[in-house]
Amino acid sequence: AKGAAMVTAVAYRLAAQRKQIDAVLAPFLLSLETLRDVMNKMRTELEYGLKRETQDRATVKMLPTYVCGTPDGTEKGKYLALDLGGTNFRVLLVKIRSGRRRSVRMYNKIFAIPLEIMQGTGEELFDHIVQCIADFLEYMGIKGARLPLGFTFSFPCRQASIDKGTLVGWTKGFKATDCEGEDVVDMLREAIRRRNEFDLDIVAVVNDTVGTMMTCGYEDPNCEIGLIAGTGSNVCYMEDMKNIEIVEGNEGKMCINTEWGGFGDNGCIDNIRTKYDKEVDEGSLNAGKQRYEKMTSGMYLGEIVRQILIDLTKQGLLFRGQISESLRKRGIFETKFLSQIESDRLALLQVRRILQQLGLDSTCEDSIIVKEVCGAVSRRAAQLCGAGLAAIVEKKRENRGVEHLQITVGVDGTLYKLHPHFSRVLQETVRELAPRCDVTFMLSEDGSGKGAALITAVAKRLHNVGQK
Ligand code: BGC
Ligand code: MG
Repeated sequence: AKGAAMVTAVAYRLAAQRKQIDAVLAPFLLSLETLRDVMNKMRTELEYGLKRETQDRATVKMLPTYVCGTPDGTEKGKYLALDLGGTNFRVLLVKIRSGRRRSVRMYNKIFAIPLEIMQGTGEELFDHIVQCIADFLEYMGIKGARLPLGFTFSFPCRQASIDKGTLVGWTKGFKATDCEGEDVVDMLREAIRRRNEFDLDIVAVVNDTVGTMMTCGYEDPNCEIGLIAGTGSNVCYMEDMKNIEIVEGNEGKMCINTEWGGFGDNGCIDNIRTKYDKEVDEGSLNAGKQRYEKMTSGMYLGEIVRQILIDLTKQGLLFRGQISESLRKRGIFETKFLSQIESDRLALLQVRRILQQLGLDSTCEDSIIVKEVCGAVSRRAAQLCGAGLAAIVEKKRENRGVEHLQITVGVDGTLYKLHPHFSRVLQETVRELAPRCDVTFMLSEDGSGKGAALITAVAKRLHNVGQK
């Protein structure tokens, strides 16, 4: 009788725990109705960003890129490309061949950007970049060449032409001083001048989404959308000129960098933001900004997970109620760990081993809960990203005035590429919310490098910009 009572007590305790865990994770389960609401709100914000009267205050900035067409295969030549703003900083040499032997070849070098440079002064940051370029030119033996350069700069920039871009504000892990409101091309030119060792012909400044769209557009002319689901989150797409009120002219199309990461900064999705999202926001470098990005991108998902784990531990549901030093450390759960933890092929014992590596001593029960938390957070991210994308493809469909739209989305980013479920859930959500759009997802092979070179090639051909 005593044994039976103990079994009942254990069962009771487990049921109570389950209830508490479910309560913590409940706000992460979004109904189809809620996702449709997110999609509609995104649509509203996209329109605000395009309209002259509302564009100033718009949280989704809808920045014109002055990229007006996709490559046509006639591009050729040697280009330099820089890629700043993702996981790494890279310098690339890109060789494009046209005609029957059409091909793109690339050589690149990866450089680390130390934290104190990312968050130091603007001059130090750009001097460091130019130092890396110098190393690369030296290494490739092309220091005297003065090649045309495309600069993939993955932050919001207000552009007045393809070779000018004023930084609106830093995002992700960057916070160098004296850059916001400045032209990043000028800052790069000045740093090259300061070094006084070589010269470059800076032709284009490009967002990574645009590079991704162009790279996929080189293979598939139906690709008119570029998506990044990586450290940050963003989308660009080809918009009809007549809908872009702040750019003169009504003919043809121009690529718009939506900067959708800022969606929700006016509070319009506060109904779905949890207290964990708010904690992550408050602990970030840009509190109050990029709220949608903070719910959907790799840089923040691990932080949301960590906040939930801390709460569960406080409630005595995890790690024997002990908040360890490691759990207090910001940024311990990188995308690659989340991806590993959620991999279906991984046994629980291996999950425990990963947690162990992160300095978290877990029981088997703990590891089940951690995996569940990761799943809830990444699934919500993929669904929210899908709801945003559904708004974009629906807009494209209406622009074209067709019943059914066939369109290709070029995609890049570590979250999309590495995570075991993110891409599938994202695609399912788009299919569900935009049933009249037939969306093909195309992985971009190094959009930031290849795309910047292609854009530079097109810009050289069309406007003969640069050469200053
Ligand atoms: C930036 C975007 C960029 C995205 C993906 C965001 O934080 O604001 O410009 O495209 O990250 O890298
Ligand atoms: Mg990138």
